[in-house]
Amino acid sequence: MPLESAFLRFFMRLLILFASLLLAAPVWAAKPNVLLIVADDLGYNDVGFQGSKEIPTPHLDKLAAQSLRCTNGYVSHPFCSPTRAGLMTGRYQHRFGHENNPAWLPESTTAGLALSETTFPALMQQAGYATGAVGKWHLGAHPQFHPMKRGFDEYFGALGGGHVYFPGDKGGPEYQIPLNRNGKDEAQTKYLTEQFGDEAAAFVARHADGKPWMLYLAFNAPHTPLQAPQEWLEKLKHIENTSRRTYAAMICALDAAIGGVMAKLDETKQRENTLIYFVSDNGGPNLAGKSGTNFTDNSPLRGAKGAVYEGGMRVPFLVSWPVKIKPGVYDQPVIALDFLPTSLAAAESSDLTPNNLDGVNLLPFLTGETSAAPHELLFWRSGGPGGNNAVRRGRMKLVRLGQTTAELYDLAADVGETKNLAAEKPEVVKDLTAAIAEWEKGTVAPTFESPKAGKPTAKKKKK
Ligand code: CA
Repeated sequence: MPLESAFLRFFMRLLILFASLLLAAPVWAAKPNVLLIVADDLGYNDVGFQGSKEIPTPHLDKLAAQSLRCTNGYVSHPFCSPTRAGLMTGRYQHRFGHENNPAWLPESTTAGLALSETTFPALMQQAGYATGAVGKWHLGAHPQFHPMKRGFDEYFGALGGGHVYFPGDKGGPEYQIPLNRNGKDEAQTKYLTEQFGDEAAAFVARHADGKPWMLYLAFNAPHTPLQAPQEWLEKLKHIENTSRRTYAAMICALDAAIGGVMAKLDETKQRENTLIYFVSDNGGPNLAGKSGTNFTDNSPLRGAKGAVYEGGMRVPFLVSWPVKIKPGVYDQPVIALDFLPTSLAAAESSDLTPNNLDGVNLLPFLTGETSAAPHELLFWRSGGPGGNNAVRRGRMKLVRLGQTTAELYDLAADVGETKNLAAEKPEVVKDLTAAIAEWEKGTVAPTFESPKAGKPTAKKKKK
């Protein structure tokens, strides 16, 4: 056989081999897994990738380095349950009256995520996904609100608004309820953050060879009660304020638990094609520790959990999808309501996206396909109609506390909301006030009350 034809045949075989590899749908062309990680009451500046020098978070920092870090990333509420209602629906939760925390009322069919709403996991099920939730639920105690009634195939976690961290530790009744696995009580076996991390890692391993999956991993850490493992407390002796040290140790445990999940993704070769979101459900709370000073750090933002200032709802915000999204920084305003439509788009199932969403598909923006802003306007309200409002348009933000005061800030120049420009720019105030009024037409009054405070100061009634 002449040398040339042997070479030609070898070359043709190589070509066929390449073509068949391409046709066999490479891994990255398959639907991505979706992992939504939520921290609870995490301070804006209390993880390494946000600038903390005090609290070591190597695993989150590594994830951040693999992510597009959204520096103007928001959640839709400055406290727990309403943010989760927004996350689960892609809609402003005010549209269906979910503006407060539901009390732990297993007999109440109203205190929970309205059954009228279509949920994120239910849509992912329709897109062919296995769906699981691990951690804090806080979207209703009645059995009709159970995660497995709202789109999750499996669940393990604490159904209330929080939980004690060590088995048998001190905490209110809601924080003492047994953990729940697929509708049945189950004992807590270890430090809760670690147990949630283990459960999430097991989910990742269990679904490695099956259909694509979505996992909602909602830690209750570092929300109170302040309870941390001794090993972390010892590593954080440089933090003098003992409340802050415990809070920091809870964040370290959270970081380690997330590290365990990331390691399992790597080990099962799923990391490259897993779309990961990381947010806190609201800003760090303003809780004075034993020393009398606050122990969470939202700097450089103003305010804390509960406020419609940036410290209440601008949060650490990461989006990572190695095969599709280049790591870096993204600075246009985005909101956690966007996760639902973004995930459906990533799953090539945008046709399932409901037409009543407030969230948008972020993929064209995060991949650089377009440089436009994903949102013209973003809105917040806490305390029902007449409560505290905020609206952001571009760099400008209007804050309205009750019906009386209007404050205007230029966030691009003044992220700490220190200089009220309302008197200087009455036209902008007028425009944004009108935008709030228009938005409020699409909202309703809260359908249930928080078990305790949560009302704006301006609206408090005298007893
Ligand atoms: Ca929270």
